[in-house]
Amino acid sequence: MKQSKLFMPTLREVPSDAEAVSHQLLLRAGFMRQNAAGIYSYLPLAKRVLGKIETIVRQEMEAAGAQELLMPAIQPAELWEETGRWDIYGPELMRLTDRHDRRFALGATHEELITSIVRDELNSYKKLPVNLFQIQMKYRDERRPRFGLLRGREFIMKDAYSFHATQESLEDEYQNMFDAYTKIFTRVGLEFRPVVADSGAIGGSGTHEFHALAAIGEDTIVYSDQSDYAANLEMAESVDAYTKQNQTPEALEEVHTGEAKTIEAVSEVLGLPAVESIKTVIFKTEQGLVMALVRGDHEVNDIKLKNYLGALDITMASDEEIEQALHSTPGTLGPIGAEMKIVADYAVRALTNAVCGANKSETHYVHVDPSRDFEAEYTDLRFVEEGDVSPDGAGHVKFARGIEVGQVFKLGTRYSEGMNATFLDEGGKAQPLIMGCYGIGVSRTLSAVVEQHYDERGIIWPKAIAPFDVHLIAVNGKNADQMQVAETVYQELTDAGFSVLFDDRKERAGVKFADADLIGLPVRINVGKKAPEGIVELKARRGGEAEEIEQTNLLEAVRSLYEGLE
Ligand code: ATP
Ligand code: MG
Repeated sequence: MKQSKLFMPTLREVPSDAEAVSHQLLLRAGFMRQNAAGIYSYLPLAKRVLGKIETIVRQEMEAAGAQELLMPAIQPAELWEETGRWDIYGPELMRLTDRHDRRFALGATHEELITSIVRDELNSYKKLPVNLFQIQMKYRDERRPRFGLLRGREFIMKDAYSFHATQESLEDEYQNMFDAYTKIFTRVGLEFRPVVADSGAIGGSGTHEFHALAAIGEDTIVYSDQSDYAANLEMAESVDAYTKQNQTPEALEEVHTGEAKTIEAVSEVLGLPAVESIKTVIFKTEQGLVMALVRGDHEVNDIKLKNYLGALDITMASDEEIEQALHSTPGTLGPIGAEMKIVADYAVRALTNAVCGANKSETHYVHVDPSRDFEAEYTDLRFVEEGDVSPDGAGHVKFARGIEVGQVFKLGTRYSEGMNATFLDEGGKAQPLIMGCYGIGVSRTLSAVVEQHYDERGIIWPKAIAPFDVHLIAVNGKNADQMQVAETVYQELTDAGFSVLFDDRKERAGVKFADADLIGLPVRINVGKKAPEGIVELKARRGGEAEEIEQTNLLEAVRSLYEGLE
């Protein structure tokens, strides 16, 4: 490709609204443009990268036995009503009506659609298992589209759905997909970690997210410094390894704490550390109000509470709701005498003479002994903290930021039951199909790779997904000798199977070098002043000095340099 013909509108300035490095670099290097919030055009360079990522995804999915299909982005509302998600999905689901007032959704995901196809067309256990995937635009009206391709409202996803006759078959396929994902993310050049995750609104149980490690990541990954253990912060377990406070329980006592409402303020008034107090938070679920208790220095993990209760929805209770139930307001709440379901973290059980609110204004209790003074169900209810013991017993946990680039889910029968999708088992009996689903954010992956591969001058593409392999630069595009040598090199490398971007423009050398660094192709060849002597310069984008090479040895030198690149 001749660069003089390439549509690659670079920018000199960093666009002011782009916070993420990948967003800035992809805009500056002319890979993409924004058309509306969270909606982008992929320009030719980005399209080439996407093509390469898609090829890797396709190859590994097919090698794992999955088959590609393509479903519509426009989906009838009735299908989403069958599973209840027309209502549950909320404003993220983009909706439209046709000229006959029929309602549709723009596909945010395709469980309903694929289940409707399979239920109509696949009826026997003999045809199972089957895994079907597609690579397609998805639509989600995200509350906060941001960081460019990392959180778009229109984005490219690979989504796969598997159907099984037995749970065992699903478990096998889950592992199969887990392995395929590991190969895919390794091949695209990401540093990533699979982590235990929460199954969220999609339902089902058993799921891992694949996270690219990057500071811009919106998720906190908790990992062991000594083992493979890794989990999303929401799910990371804390171990019940607290030792009971070695004190004699004293008599429960009410104390006046005045205006003090926060754990810190109350601790200060009483001259006691936060670790000796109990924090009370009231949540609202479809099962009613629930009181959650953690130690004063800990935070309640609402996802753990939700999962413990088996609740569908959980929010903080309002002050009015709390007042009605407990005749008190946040700041002086506590479990003693409270007529409400109480769920407490293990750490609370280990306290002996603790502080908690007395459900009375300006009043707290001291010398609270949980085993003596109130009834609670104990479970793991808090967010883990850096330095906690790893749940698998190996080492301690650390935190890192991650970008979720993929997820594998065991869905079970959540969709097939809702949509009456059954197959006939060996005994001729109708059974609900057992399902798995597996997503990869293709456009997000492109951006995540950039988050991990850049320097102060621009992008450094891993060779597996670089838009071109080689950047060939005629240093002075007006010089006939240089242009002639460059043309020859261009032919030779292209014939040898390299994809080459040939900077044949009549720009200044400095401009050309800066652009080359910005767009970040793995191998660079400069054809400059020594061209008439048959000498050119060769270097890798990632570090390294340019090396002078005889033109006759160039192909071999390029091959060996390329070979050694990441
Ligand atoms: P997130 O938690 O980041 O909103 P999600 O868990 O809702 O993502 P999934 O339903 O698991 O996303 O979708 C599969 C994959 O699609 C994700 O792992 C992610 O890589 C990608 N993806 C999801 N939402 C977006 C988005 N708004 N922009 C770009 N990629 C996305
Ligand atoms: Mg996800």
